[in-house]
Amino acid sequence: MYREYKAKRIISGKLPHGADVTESLKSICNKEGITLGNIHILGAVKKASLGFYNQTKKEYEMLIFNEPLEIVSSLGNVSLKDGETFVHIHVTLSNSRGEALGGHLMSPTEIFACEFSIVETLGAPLVRKLDEVTGLYLWDI
Ligand code: ZN
Repeated sequence: MYREYKAKRIISGKLPHGADVTESLKSICNKEGITLGNIHILGAVKKASLGFYNQTKKEYEMLIFNEPLEIVSSLGNVSLKDGETFVHIHVTLSNSRGEALGGHLMSPTEIFACEFSIVETLGAPLVRKLDEVTGLYLWDI
């Protein structure tokens, strides 16, 4: 179950200090009309909220980290859910001891400094739909 896409353009920049990572990226996608693509971010956050999906309960458990963390790595995408732009990002963060933690990026996650690139792609939209097996909104493909 997959489709072929072509890269249309790449937008790179930095997100505003003190803002929320996901909301800032969603705002840029809306402003630029991006509904399909991939996202990479790196930098640092003042505090972070991560989700861990409990596969038995079929719900996210929130993990809150009220400490400065590095954004070591990230993978994300842009698609549509309920007709709106949906930004989905997973991150690996590290603390002052170099220990890694990670998960599904949630709000609030406050930016200290964050560089981003969004690769907009051309092709059939990827639309999220409730998947009965997992309880997640997955691509209807
Ligand atoms: Zn996720």
